[in-house]
This record gives sequence, structure tokens and C-alpha cells, in this order.
Amino acid sequence: MLDAGTVGKTNRTNGNDKLVQSLVERRDDLTSVVWVGDQPIGGVEVIVMAGPCSVESREQVMSTALTVKKYGASILRGGAYKPRTSPYDFQGLGVEGLHLLRQAGDAAGMPVVTEVMSEDDIDVVCDHADMVQVGARNMQNFALLRKLGKTRTPILLKRGPSATVKEWLSAAEYILHGGNENVVLCERGIKTFDSSLRNTLDLAGVALVKELTHLPVVVDPSHATGKRSIVGVCAKAAVAVGADGVIVEVHPQPDKAWSDGAQSLSFDLFAEMMDRLQKPMRTVVQSAKA
Ligand code: PEP
Ligand code: MN
Repeated sequence: MLDAGTVGKTNRTNGNDKLVQSLVERRDDLTSVVWVGDQPIGGVEVIVMAGPCSVESREQVMSTALTVKKYGASILRGGAYKPRTSPYDFQGLGVEGLHLLRQAGDAAGMPVVTEVMSEDDIDVVCDHADMVQVGARNMQNFALLRKLGKTRTPILLKRGPSATVKEWLSAAEYILHGGNENVVLCERGIKTFDSSLRNTLDLAGVALVKELTHLPVVVDPSHATGKRSIVGVCAKAAVAVGADGVIVEVHPQPDKAWSDGAQSLSFDLFAEMMDRLQKPMRTVVQSAKA
């Protein structure tokens, strides 16, 4: 049985096996607020992060940034270093992609989040981004987590495709233990017996980590489903279950995307999702004020 008393506790082998208190477990009823540039995650308002899976060109990322901002997104996402299943797939534009993402974020007035895959790239990624994503495949890359714990850059820690809630929170613990308390958890779907969708969105897991920890939690319905027609409703469900925000993939021409086109929203579908989210987002704000 997983409860706040067991999650994240570690045995220190410094001679007396001292049980140390977890840093991520819930200390009170409040969610910590993590600031990404001028945007708070974990506050009263539900935040929306949006942008392409991969940064492909100046035009692509710029038009996406301006459009998602117009419809109410507050943080721009875009991958420059891509963890692809096949080495023959597009691997990202690297530093050039970081430049293009930063320029688009600045032009739209949005902070940016992008993935770091390797310890070697931490400095350059932190120099260009307001928040750094640890991708699902790297959730248990402990050397990477330890190094990110030494920075003060906000971290978006995705749940590993086969990670239990406990393993996910222990990964967060690594970053906090290193001294970086700016961690946001991200549920992005897990592997189950059911292959009808790309992954299985674990919304109960979101409710559970909201109960167990003080860290803000966001949901990525794009990678969780792999299917653009249901991304919007799943985003709404995420807000209903208590998520502090959502992160979605958006592309000017989804069918021509260099990665994850099937789950990328067109501009019209993004506008529709934002419309769908208005009611639950207002409810969250009102109940917090009541
Ligand atoms: C992504 O955000 O494009 C990505 C690769 O995410 P994940 O690590 O959740 O698969
Ligand atoms: Mn993607």
C-alpha cells in the first residue's frame, strides 16, 4: 500500500541507517507554486503549455507560438533534442532548434519548455529555456536527475511509460534532494495491456499524486493518447481530476509534422480545446476564491 508515509523515504547508509524525511511528500494542504518565467504553475489558475512536438523551422514554431498565445496558452513547448524510438527518425535540430524556440517564445511573450536528453546538454538547454523537460524515457536516468538537482531551473518531470507512482515520486525526490525544488510532475500515459491507444492515461494516478505530494501536476493528453480527436476531452478530464495544467502538441499542418503528427492538434482543434477548457478552468478559479 502506497501512502504519504512510505513514498520517497530512503535509507541512508551512513552507518546508522537513518530514515530521512521525503522532500516531495505532502507537508500541508497547499500545492507548491513553481514559477516558469513569469508564469506560476500550481497556483489558482490552470495553465496550458502548447507547441510543436519538434521544432522544425522558424516559420513553423513562430506561427504556432503566436497562435497558441492568442488562444490563451501561457508556456511554449518545442523539442530540439528528440528521444526517438528509431535512430533513423528525425532527432531534432539541436542548438539551432533551441534558438528558434527561444525567438518564438520571445516574440509571443511566452516562457519556453524543452527537453534535455543528455547531461552534456544541460548547460546549453538551461541557457535557452525557462523550464527543462525530463522525458519519459529518462525518468530514471539518475545521473541526469542528480545534475538537474544542482540547477535551479524548473523541471518538468514526465512519468516513465512503465513507472509506478512510487518510482515517479522517487525520481522527483532525486531532483529535490539535490537542492532544486522547482519540480512539476507530468503524467503522459503508461503502458498497459491495452494497445487501442498509444498509451493509457492514468488520471487516477494524477489524483493520487495530488493527494500524496505538494508538487504541481500537469497532464499530457497528446502522448497519453496518440490521437488528436480525443486530446481535447482528455485535457478537460485532467482539469476535472485536479491537474494544475495541461501540455499539448500543436502544429500548423499536423499531417506533415516531422514527429507525432497523429496526436498534434491543428490550430482549429487547439482553439476548440481551449474553448472546452474555459468552464472547468473558471470553476477551479472560483472554488479557490470561495
Ligand atoms: C515529447 O514531449 O515530445 C516527448 C517525447 O514526450 P515523452 O517523453 O512523454 O514521450
Ligand atoms: Mn512528441
